Formats: sequence, structure tokens, C-alpha cells
Amino acid sequence: MLSLATRGGRAAVRAAPAYSNVTKYGHSRMRHISGMPANQAAVSASVDVSAMPPYNKPEIPVYNELNEYWRMLPPFKDVGSDDFLSWRWSTKLTGDGVQNVIEKKEKLYEFLRKVLPPEVPRRGYANGMQSREEFEGDIASGIRASTMSLRVMPYVLSRINWNDPANDPIFRQFIPLKSVMMPDHPMVNHDSLGERADSPVDGIVHRYPDKALFLPLSVCPTYCSFCTRAYGVGADTELVTKDSFKLARTRIEKSFAYIESQPRLHDIVISGGDAYYLPHHVLEEIGERLIKLKNIKRFRFASKGLAVSPSRFLENEDPWTAALIRVSNKAKMAGKQMALHTHFNHPNEISEVTERAAHKLLLSGVTVRNQSVLLRGVNDNVGTMGTLINKLADMSIQPYYVYQCDMVEKIEHLRTPLQTILDLESQLRGSVAGFYMPNFVVDLPGGGGKRLACSYESYDRESGVSTFTAPALTGIGKKDRVYTYHDPVRS
Ligand code: SF4
Repeated sequence: MLSLATRGGRAAVRAAPAYSNVTKYGHSRMRHISGMPANQAAVSASVDVSAMPPYNKPEIPVYNELNEYWRMLPPFKDVGSDDFLSWRWSTKLTGDGVQNVIEKKEKLYEFLRKVLPPEVPRRGYANGMQSREEFEGDIASGIRASTMSLRVMPYVLSRINWNDPANDPIFRQFIPLKSVMMPDHPMVNHDSLGERADSPVDGIVHRYPDKALFLPLSVCPTYCSFCTRAYGVGADTELVTKDSFKLARTRIEKSFAYIESQPRLHDIVISGGDAYYLPHHVLEEIGERLIKLKNIKRFRFASKGLAVSPSRFLENEDPWTAALIRVSNKAKMAGKQMALHTHFNHPNEISEVTERAAHKLLLSGVTVRNQSVLLRGVNDNVGTMGTLINKLADMSIQPYYVYQCDMVEKIEHLRTPLQTILDLESQLRGSVAGFYMPNFVVDLPGGGGKRLACSYESYDRESGVSTFTAPALTGIGKKDRVYTYHDPVRS
């Protein structure tokens, strides 16, 4: 068998006899991926990824019986593991016509009536209690004032403390309360990172010389209130009519034509939306086509799936997970790298189910990295962020980035001043091995890309204005540009 470790790189892959000609897996060397343009053969790497062996299921250890903790919640008390851990039960219509992912406010209220006590604490413990009806009204107003539509997976609902939801770090990220919202900073922007200005074709954001963002879809399993891409992700809200980037063949082809035409592009992030909602055959097609492009050396699928519906990775017959693992293996065989980039913000999002799912990905050889967003009242203290970093490290998930929250609309209550991220970085560095220490970054408003928070050119703590430069970005209008981040007004 081939040994990449001893023989190294693509030359060794080419020499491997097991995958040449027609193989026992029944594929000819020259078979094309369905839908791939004929001229792509000219730019394909010499490794025939379609002739490689299918997904080898890893040996999964025998775990102890799972604690069905979700049964503590009345709506889930009769739901066993077979259902609760099933992607189909979580997302599709069940036999009795029920859909368990919550997308409609009426369904959320029905759920709330089953889980909330008659009175719950207000946000901030000094503010007393409010009735269940008052709390529901607060959510209804919050939904009307939000830029993101409602969608919450049952797994996420199972991780919230419903005796005190307003102060719960998971509730705070996904379900809006009008009473905690604050007026927007005058400098916030609908498209804070200027992605539309850096989009050469529909579906691509190209800002860095060697890397581009590929956005094939605009849906996610759970919508975050603080989404940077609120201009396009999710359904329209009362406040925002979204740019549409729905999954479409023409969008994919235009994006690939652009990626192929840029020889300096080596790295692609497939995001959206969330790659968890790519049909498995599209995920596999995108992966295989990227592997075949000579200019592309690495790519990542961005998905919050591991944080909001981890059990899907444990379903042996789930075709999406199988496709992801196959693409990861094929990329490695071609001397390239595929990674899964996920998005945990708080340790409470991690359960025994998550640990098993992460273990399966580890056993399957899939590289997983995490990108957190720093959020006020969620993870803006050393204890919480330190615990999150350590828990991720324990699951062999690389804590890659902690982002300063972007300057987008209707999330002023979730933003922190720059000083918070600077303090976190300085207090946490050294608490965990360096290779598990995330980069604490600001994604510069206006399209300057990610810069280390501590690399600011100036920071006036009185006015809350910090400035940065991004010398490596040389696009039109970027040379010598100074980018500005504004702390929230109240700080
Ligand atoms: S998962 Fe990502 S893309 Fe989707 S709503 Fe959350 S932040 Fe936005």
C-alpha cells in the first residue's frame, strides 16, 4: 500500500499501482465527474480521484450507553436516541407531519409554553423576574427587529437552560430579545466586511491574493443573530430583503470558471450559508473538482453542523458525512488538504454527542478547526473562553480564530470593545500549548481581511476607535488604506 509518510507527496501518489487503470472499484481512470466541463480535464491533476477507494468506515469504539439528557425537557421526554440523534428526525417532516427544527415563531411559542416556568429572570440578575407571557412578547418583538430569520435545531434547544433563558449563553446567540437590543452604532453596515465589493462573480468573494470564499448556498441548520452575512443568509425578515445566493448549477459553474482562471488562487473556503446543507453529491462534486484543479492546494468546508447538530456525524449511513470523509481522503491522496471549519462559541454547546462526533472525525482523518466569535454575555471572559479552548483541544479540534464581533446591524448588545479581545489574548496565552492557541483577530470593516487584534496601529480607548492596515492586500482601493473598527457606543 501507498505510504505518503515515507514516499511523500503527489509523485508517490502517481506511482501507486493500486489506483491505476480500471480498479476493483469499477471506475476507469478517465471517468469524469458528472457535470464537470470537458475542458476541465486539461487542468486536472494527474491523480484520478474518482478511481480511489470508497469511504472506509473507521472502527468506532464501543461507547457506554449515552445519557439521554434531552428527555429532561417535556417536548423531548418521549424521544429516544434513535430519533433525537437522527438528522432526518431533526430536519425533515416526520411521519405525523411534525418538523422538529423550529423555523416558525408559532412553533417556538408552542415549545416555550412546554419548557418555561411561569416566571423567568430578566437579562441581568439585578433586574428581577418577568412572566412567561411577557418573555414571549419580548421574543416576538425581537424577531421583528432582527436581521436574521429564525431557525433552531432541536440539539440547540436541548442545550439551553430554560429556567433562565435570558441569561443563557446559547439562547442569547440564536433567539432575539427586544429588551436587550441597543441602538446601532452609526458606523455599522449591512455588509460590514464589504464582501459584495470584493465579489468578482456571483458566488465568489476574492480578497486575499491566494484565497477566495466560495458561497454556493445561503441556508444554515441554525441561524445566528450576529451573522456577518445577514445581507444574504437565511430567509427575508421584516427588516431585511436578502440578496439571494441559492444553490444553483449556474452559480457553481461561474464560480469554478473564476477559480480556474486565477493561477494565484491556492485556497478555497466553501461557506454560505453552511456546507451542512449542501446535498451530499454536490459536496462531493465540489471537493473532487477542487482536488483536480492544479492551482488549488487546500480547501475547507465551513459548517456549524458539529456545534448545532453533531449527531449527524455518528450516523453510519449518512451520505453527507460519508462524502465529506471520502473527499478528505481523496484530497490527502492527491497531496492536498481538506479541512472542516466549524463554529463553537461556548463550552455548553459541547455534549457527549459532540465528543463522539469529533472522535469519529478524528478516527476518519478529517482535520477540524474552530472559529469562534467573541460575544458579550456569551464568551467574553477568561474562564469561559479558556474552558472552550481546552475542550476543543481535548476533542482534537484546532481553536483557529477568535473573532472580534463584526460591525453589523441589530447586534450592538452582543459586541464588545476591542480591549476585551486584547485582554483575553494576553491572559489566555500560555494557558494551553501554543499550537492550540487561537489567533484573536479583527476582520476589518470595509474588506481589509483578518488582522491580529493586537496589531492595531492606534487605539483611542476614550472614543473607542481603533485603526489597522493590511499591507498584504493589494486589491483596487486597498493599497495604503487605513481600516477603522469602532467599539460599541456604551463602552
Ligand atoms: S452558521 Fe455562519 S453563516 Fe450561518 S447564520 Fe451562523 S454565522 Fe451566519
